[in-house]
Amino acid sequence: MIDLRSDTVTKPSKEMLEEMIIAPVGDDVFGEDPTVNKLQDFSANIFGKEAALFCSSGTQTNQIAINLHAQPGAEVITHFESHVFKYEGGGIARNSGASTRTVGGSRGRITASEIEPWINPSNDVHYPLTQLVSIEDTSNRGGGAIYDFNEIKKIRAYCNSKGLPLHLDGARVFNALEENKVDIKEYAKQFDSISVCLSKGLGAPIGSLLIADADFIARARRVRKVFGGGMRQAGFIAAAGLYALKNNIVRLKDDHRRAKIIESELLKTAWVESVMPVESNIVVCILKDISRVQEFVSAFEQKGVLIMPFGKGMLRMVTHLDFSEDDTSRLCMTIRDLK
Ligand SMILES: *Cc1c(COP(=O)(O)O)cnc(C)c1O
Repeated sequence: MIDLRSDTVTKPSKEMLEEMIIAPVGDDVFGEDPTVNKLQDFSANIFGKEAALFCSSGTQTNQIAINLHAQPGAEVITHFESHVFKYEGGGIARNSGASTRTVGGSRGRITASEIEPWINPSNDVHYPLTQLVSIEDTSNRGGGAIYDFNEIKKIRAYCNSKGLPLHLDGARVFNALEENKVDIKEYAKQFDSISVCLSKGLGAPIGSLLIADADFIARARRVRKVFGGGMRQAGFIAAAGLYALKNNIVRLKDDHRRAKIIESELLKTAWVESVMPVESNIVVCILKDISRVQEFVSAFEQKGVLIMPFGKGMLRMVTHLDFSEDDTSRLCMTIRDLK
């Protein structure tokens, strides 16, 4: 089976598993797991930030960050298709008692000028206090779209002028950085907190990192415990994360190249209306006949390819490190065969 439903479906390689088995461990709730500590230091360094916290999922890192930035009754500004709003079970309201002001924009991205009208005046008691802006790079619902770094800087400058923190849902931030070629520390400087998934394109089985300054991470440790996310000998899984950061970033460009090949194959068919221009490892196509989503998902499955229905008339395929060059050729043949 070729599985392109998500880049989360990868299994740890033999080399990764070997690193996991030999990892020195300790009780991480006591802060005593040397491998977790190493992963946290290593990742904070990559981004040029003071500290990091290893968590079980990207939902957890996002929700912890939101909990620290926004108080009950406050408002969080984010894109209407963002993961933090759409795919975290209403966690902003449920975990933090905050509300969400969703704004729209092209392909999951927001601009500084789209945020501007929605910052509430803090001296008028009618309005919820705007306390956070959260953006997603790359954007999942945007078909892997990448932010223009200049726009991020504009958002940062605007947030500064209003005293607002900026959070990055960087589940696939390394996919973005592979393409935009922005200096990673310069990029990270724009954000007060950054969530990064190790279990997506980087190929680790479990885990995400929350990266910020030392004071924020100290407070995040407390929230993680309250959310039930304190882990004990987590070094075994942190070792996989370390391996992923050291070995699996440079190869992301292969995923992107293969996604481009899929895009051009899809554009040649009679049944695809359009493809969101591929910018990273996500391919989203829109069918000519929007009622045929389930039919195509099943047709692909019969030919040994798993793909994801992605809303009205849309199919999603995500490339990853268990999807090879041979798989790419096989998939292209399958796409050509379908009518
Ligand atoms: C996958 C993902 C997350 C985190 O998901 P988990 O399954 O909780 O790790 C967050 N944001 C985006 C954009 C994602 O794609």
